[in-house]
Amino acid sequence: MLIGGLQQMTLLDYPGQVAATIFTVGCNFRCHFCHNPALVLPEKFGEGLKTEKDVLDFLRARKKLLDGVCITGGEPTLQKDIVEVCESIKDLGYKIKLDTNGLRPHIIQKLMKKDLIDYIAMDIKAPWNKYEQVVGVKVDLDKLKQSVKIIRESGLPHEFRSTVLPGLHTAEDIIRMAKQVKGADAYYIQRFRSEPELVNQEFVSENKFLLKDLEAIRNEIKDWFKVCKVR
Ligand code: SF4
Repeated sequence: MLIGGLQQMTLLDYPGQVAATIFTVGCNFRCHFCHNPALVLPEKFGEGLKTEKDVLDFLRARKKLLDGVCITGGEPTLQKDIVEVCESIKDLGYKIKLDTNGLRPHIIQKLMKKDLIDYIAMDIKAPWNKYEQVVGVKVDLDKLKQSVKIIRESGLPHEFRSTVLPGLHTAEDIIRMAKQVKGADAYYIQRFRSEPELVNQEFVSENKFLLKDLEAIRNEIKDWFKVCKVR
């Protein structure tokens, strides 16, 4: 597994758990607003990658302090040994949360069949008809729809979430994204935050939606989910 970083403790990444977060390197999307270019753009992949051994040794030593491990990216399902790494983490007694963009449903299914995932979060980047515009690459929408179905019907705790910004999404788009995953456990509308470095530098000075506008949208869709929040 190509590991670009390890956050040693987070209370935010894995709902209800004290967790560590593993950041995998490499992504099959190029979302303009992505604030992890070092994990996404091959020319920015840095030196000093961590090894699985480093990470597993760390997790072994922290067993009494942490409950779970969040595996994020980049896109973790691209890692050739994701199954083996998840097995090693589970063997240490941790719960696993997987963050995914949903483009590799067969890997998600494989991990679920082996009981290696305890919580799954999938990004919904755009209404289906605008997906390629937002993620910057050609997309097989059937694969994304398969992932939505697998996750929604998995019986596992799950969430879908959309990072939104006025330069790419309209209010109507947000409602359409929510409709694409209607009936899911949770849907989060995430307000875009800029960083000095994004995958597309032209988006560094993009505006954000006003919180009150996002709350108004949330009010329209909140009954479609058990949990629906702006964050
Ligand atoms: S935001 Fe987009 S480009 Fe960045 S890691 Fe996630 S899926 Fe990949």
